[in-house]
Amino acid sequence: MKLGIVIPCYNEEETLPETSKRLEVLLDEMIAAGSIDKESFICYVDDGSTDSTWEYIEKFQKESNHFKGIKLSRNFGHQNALIAGLMQLKNDADALVSMDADLQDDITLIKKFVEKYTEGYDVVYGVREDRRTDSKFKRDTAGFFYKLQYFMGIETVQNHADYRLLSQKALSALAEFKEINLFLRGIVPMLGFRSCSVYYTRAERFAGETKYPLKKMFLFALDGIASFSVRPLRLITVIGFFLFILSLLGILWVVFEKFILGNAVQGWASTMVSIYFIGGIQVMSLGIIGEYVGRAFQESKGRPRYIIDKEI
Ligand code: UDP
Ligand code: MG
Repeated sequence: MKLGIVIPCYNEEETLPETSKRLEVLLDEMIAAGSIDKESFICYVDDGSTDSTWEYIEKFQKESNHFKGIKLSRNFGHQNALIAGLMQLKNDADALVSMDADLQDDITLIKKFVEKYTEGYDVVYGVREDRRTDSKFKRDTAGFFYKLQYFMGIETVQNHADYRLLSQKALSALAEFKEINLFLRGIVPMLGFRSCSVYYTRAERFAGETKYPLKKMFLFALDGIASFSVRPLRLITVIGFFLFILSLLGILWVVFEKFILGNAVQGWASTMVSIYFIGGIQVMSLGIIGEYVGRAFQESKGRPRYIIDKEI
């Protein structure tokens, strides 16, 4: 089988030489063992890096026929860079493995990916056995996020990042998903086909620092929920309904106080509290609805998810 490895890179000059060296060794090993064709390749997708990432990619491509490169016209973000690579190369290999450039994912797992592929699996997930090398903060926020997704009725594979193998069949199916707000981890389970997981321990970043600062992480998490579930909207409806019932009771109480008991209601505190309370809920609800309206707006324009500058 012909294997392709797709790696999105954003300012990864510090990690690329080592990544390339190790992957080339691995590829040669697998070719020698006869598990993959000798035309198998590694393709870097330069996601608008501002350092010398692209120069490195050009250098690797010149020195060895294992390497390919795609340069995007600007920074489109990890998910878009990944889909760019997968879509450009989906007809060039029997299966594509996607991974990060920073060697956090155990590359020897690729052998197991290929084994599973030959056994007939179309989707193979790389799943982290433990997250000890991630910061406590990242672990906690990730844990919370998985719970939230589960609560919202979204099916994902826990502790699976974008390290996976997709067969050509799965890739053609993936090509039918045209959404702009991409969250591949949510889409891949929707493809169906025969799938399985293989486990590994995640290492530290080899060099450089994370390209996912808190803000990007938060926006990514939002995509992971709002692109797959309308349950937040439904929740608003439910809250609204209960508030309505509550206010009916309130009205009854006011009428009772005023006309039956004849008490003059002091009521300042309760008025203020309810104004703040309802105000808060309204603003939050508008925000949530806005998320979906915004998404519908973006999708309706049908802009390209990525633009390619060069391919080598
Ligand atoms: N990346 C990218 N575009 C971006 C941000 C990140 O292509 O805008 C790439 C990055 O080069 C790396 C992968 O996505 O290969 C994952 O990023 P990183 O390792 O920084 O994320 P973390 O492992 O910290 O979640
Ligand atoms: Mg990383």
